[in-house]
Amino acid sequence: MNPSVPARLQDRVTLNNGVQMPWFGLGVFKVQEGREVIDSVKAAIKHGYRSIDTAAVYKNEEGVGQAIAESIREYGVSREDLFVTSKVWNSDQGYQTTLDAFDVSLKKLGLEYLDLYLVHWPVKGKYVETWKALENIYESGKVRAIGVSNFHKHHLEDVLAEAKVVPAVDQVELHPYLSQAELREYTRGKGIQIEAWSPLGQGRVLEDPVIRSIAGKYGKTPAQIVLRWDLQSGIVTIPKSIREPRIVENASIFDFELSAEDMKAIDELNRNERVGADPDNFNF
Ligand code: NAD
Repeated sequence: MNPSVPARLQDRVTLNNGVQMPWFGLGVFKVQEGREVIDSVKAAIKHGYRSIDTAAVYKNEEGVGQAIAESIREYGVSREDLFVTSKVWNSDQGYQTTLDAFDVSLKKLGLEYLDLYLVHWPVKGKYVETWKALENIYESGKVRAIGVSNFHKHHLEDVLAEAKVVPAVDQVELHPYLSQAELREYTRGKGIQIEAWSPLGQGRVLEDPVIRSIAGKYGKTPAQIVLRWDLQSGIVTIPKSIREPRIVENASIFDFELSAEDMKAIDELNRNERVGADPDNFNF
């Protein structure tokens, strides 16, 4: 196996400030506050996940926090083992409003610090100010790393022109139909780690005949093939599922390696096709 590819579910990538982030985590977009999110997060932690990706706008931070507290009590993990991400929502962007929004998220999660806090979308006229607020929070020690989400190259350039702290992460839509080759190349040169949201294209890429045929060859599921492609591409990935068997399935990708030929076949599926909004043209 290639030594640069993570070998275990808990393996971490070192971000540009030295903080270590798990390569693999659970996303909780559209997971209901209360029992649903608590059970999903606890199932993930029980099965070895260490990273959880939420956001203020998902309206499930309290449940995520409760699941973390219960997992620490029941499964013998410590807070330091876990990596918790949240994001400032668009309507809270701006300097002071972002500082306030961070405190609300931290309180809802019931945590003393976050591992990663992201600017959720590049809201025009606001995202540079919002970034300055994240730098302030970072300096206060209440978050271990700060980053952005849904930033194209030109948004990153705007931030970098004024930043004291280089974003550690850019979390973007990324799957075989939207492989983001140019952005990956650009961020690699800047020391910004790419993280894939909707890594399964919200399920759409799982029907792809090329992916299905590769899955058959390795005796793996289409989801496992796509998530393994992320890891072998150096991409942090956070698939969502609320079903325990799928939570286990998605993380069972450390016992095989895709050949260079199969990696290339998946790379070639790119169609620049999005399941979500284009960061240059969103209305929320
Ligand atoms: P995803 O690509 O992870 O797909 C999730 C869906 O795929 C599930 O609802 C389920 O229907 C299906 N699925 C999951 N595992 C499967 C399996 N093994 N077999 C068959 N089907 C399976 O989509 P997502 O939830 O949109 O993205 C993942 C995470 O990324 C989110 O939960 C969230 O944390 C994050 N996200 C961030 C942004 C952002 O703007 N930053 C936007 C969307 C999502």
